[in-house]
Amino acid sequence: MEAASTRNWDVIVVGGGIVGCSAAYYAARNGMRVLLVERDAPGSAQSGRNLGFVRQQNRDFRELPLMIGALSIWKEIEAELGCRVGWQQGGNLSLAFSEADLVSRREWQKRAAEEFGLDTRILSAAETQALVPQLATDRGVVGAMYTPSDGKAEPARATRAFFDAALAAGVAFAFGEPVTRMDTSAGKISGVQIRDRLYRASTVITAAGAGSAALLRKAGLDLPQEFVRATVARTVARPELKIPPCISGQQTGIRQDLNGAYVISVAGGEYDLRLDSWRHMRWYEATRKSNPDAARIDYLAPIKRLLPSRMPLPVADFPPSRDRPRPEPFRVEQASREFCRLFPGLADLEIETSWAGIIDTMPDVVPVLGPVAGISGMLVGTGFSGHGFGPGPMAGKVLADLAAGRQSLVDISSLSPMRFDKKWTSAKAG
Ligand SMILES: Cc1cc2nc3c(=O)[nH]c(=O)nc-3n(C[C@H](O)[C@H](O)[C@H](O)COP(=O)(O)OP(=O)(O)OC[C@H]3O[C@@H](n4cnc5c(N)ncnc54)[C@H](O)[C@@H]3O)c2cc1C
Repeated sequence: MEAASTRNWDVIVVGGGIVGCSAAYYAARNGMRVLLVERDAPGSAQSGRNLGFVRQQNRDFRELPLMIGALSIWKEIEAELGCRVGWQQGGNLSLAFSEADLVSRREWQKRAAEEFGLDTRILSAAETQALVPQLATDRGVVGAMYTPSDGKAEPARATRAFFDAALAAGVAFAFGEPVTRMDTSAGKISGVQIRDRLYRASTVITAAGAGSAALLRKAGLDLPQEFVRATVARTVARPELKIPPCISGQQTGIRQDLNGAYVISVAGGEYDLRLDSWRHMRWYEATRKSNPDAARIDYLAPIKRLLPSRMPLPVADFPPSRDRPRPEPFRVEQASREFCRLFPGLADLEIETSWAGIIDTMPDVVPVLGPVAGISGMLVGTGFSGHGFGPGPMAGKVLADLAAGRQSLVDISSLSPMRFDKKWTSAKAG
């Protein structure tokens, strides 16, 4: 593990994903002394493994202010951080295959325009075709929802860029060992435990993705966070063709990357059964009913966990994680089938590689962001439920501002970590 002093820090950030690295960067820019602790390497979990969509489109309205705020960061990100992260404002296009699809998209578009001034519009089949001429004309596309102000970026590059900028701004880091415990006393955070050492700080930001709930539970906050394993695949590059928007088909998300390859992933994932899976079952009953395809239960997961993985890493210079999630071959097949159906001219593109990431979900599918009531100095940003890359930089900025005693720049009132705490919600209602 990298040597880091155990002196008093203003802020300790746990987790080196896009949220943690950007929080560390902005906290240092706020003049604070910051220690970033990562059990593996920056971007080694979701933030280096995702699809790279940066979309406001079709978000839950509770998290839309965060994402709209994030977009203003993305637009300036390359100038701010001084390097290329593959940011491109090519829009987001969600294809509709039936009149019912169009009706639900219209409803979202209307509210997003009225309440948030978003530029989303509904396209006819012909307009959709004109925007993406490579799209097959005979595959039942009846129109689309299109948000020109949305964009895309390279996940690993963007996370790494925030990490490098954080170091340049004076952030210290400790890698290779997990935080095992939060240290609290008299209703205050006092630091974190790594191995047998206590690292002191008056503010701790937990941005540990799928590692967050276990840590927070020990500190007294029981978040019903669960884990879904999602698979991504990448084709070989075809740089001579350009498809600027991110595209959502019936099941599959498609993004052309900076090198011209296509990164594809189906919306569903695997829920790997665990011994303590019963713990949050009741929280997810409604979610499972409303969206049964979101996660397929893998009952054999405990056995499969013992098998060796042959997954290639998406990012060459990151050391392998100790518990690399396995990509699911049938998900690669599902994604490439729809990709080839929608883009027959690209059907000959080989799948070059595939990987998986563990999505940290919440029962209401919106993130947890803000302070923990009753433990002064404890801030949380987690549970982005499979769509936290886009809002990640703004989540980091919000956390850094709260750490500095400032107000959040955007409305996060619906994202409180306390919303799952019965005592807190009933006290608030009373
Ligand atoms: C397959 C897939 C596709 C996705 N596609 C998109 C997309 O297109 N658009 C989008 O907006 N979002 C997408 N997401 C979601 C997005 O990747 C995440 O919401 C986002 O990256 C979360 O960032 P984070 O910093 O909160 O967490 P992470 O990136 O998971 O980082 C958390 C870090 O904390 C570290 N950690 C955990 N426990 C500890 C501990 N005890 N001590 C120290 N360190 C610890 C981990 O090693 C990890 O590096 C996708 C996710 C997946 C898996």
